[in-house]
Amino acid sequence: MSLKGKTAVVTGSNSGIGLGVARELARAGASVVLNSFTDRDEDHQLAADMAREFGVEVRYIQADMSKGDDCRALIEKAGACDILVNNAGIQHVAPIDEFPVEKWDAIIAINLTSAFHTTAAALPMMRKAGWGRVVNIASAHGLTASPFKSAYVAAKHGIVGMTKTVALETAKEAITCNAICPGYVKTPLVEAQIPDTAAKYNMSEEEVIEKVILERQPSKEFATTEQIGGTAVFLCSDAAAQITGTTISVDGGWTAL
Ligand code: NAD
Repeated sequence: MSLKGKTAVVTGSNSGIGLGVARELARAGASVVLNSFTDRDEDHQLAADMAREFGVEVRYIQADMSKGDDCRALIEKAGACDILVNNAGIQHVAPIDEFPVEKWDAIIAINLTSAFHTTAAALPMMRKAGWGRVVNIASAHGLTASPFKSAYVAAKHGIVGMTKTVALETAKEAITCNAICPGYVKTPLVEAQIPDTAAKYNMSEEEVIEKVILERQPSKEFATTEQIGGTAVFLCSDAAAQITGTTISVDGGWTAL
């Protein structure tokens, strides 16, 4: 599968799943635009290192996905966007009656509304190019719920719904829109939840991983960023040209329960 000649924009890609997806797209030959809200030397170095490793063009473009104008500017600055991966996301865990309003607003903005803005900006470019792929990184929480994650679950169910609508609006074109629904993947987002949970339940961090985090993941293994990236590359392939408006779970059986 070669993605040579395609430009991929991956939001929130200086760490975790976004970085893993960007790496697999670069490995498949795509030019890649990395993004986050920071603008550090190490962000640009990451792009330079990836370009050297895979022999493709890799740029880093700073844009804050909590701001609509930044989302649209990211796509404009990219100049081309054949593959759009909406990945940027944050988490906050609290009972709904104690959920901080600013956390709710930030989660909905970054995990859901950003994908509205980037997709709206990217679709005209895809139409002009006559080909496009939108890959939304949703979650098992786009299909099921957990307590204390109201904003995250609402945003992820929202992006699964938006995925279906974008697929219908592009159904007659060579453009597809799908959502990948990962179960737990060991990234900074998940690692940050381990110490607090260990303290809360008076458990070791190993016990938290086994008994709390992977409790709902029947495989009892984390999915890897490479596996999520490989799934995204598949969705960009010709074999996936008729796959649109759907979800692919990479969750070790979580949503089969
Ligand atoms: P992560 O914290 O490693 O990565 C999040 C990325 O988003 C980072 O690159 C961060 O810089 C970026 N980001 C955060 N706020 C941003 C903003 N305002 N503007 C631009 N970029 C911003 O987390 P991750 O686990 O890799 O999560 C990536 C996506 O995968 C999220 O949408 C998350 O909901 C989803 N997901 C993760 C898991 C998991 O188990 N890790 C499971 C299912 C879904």
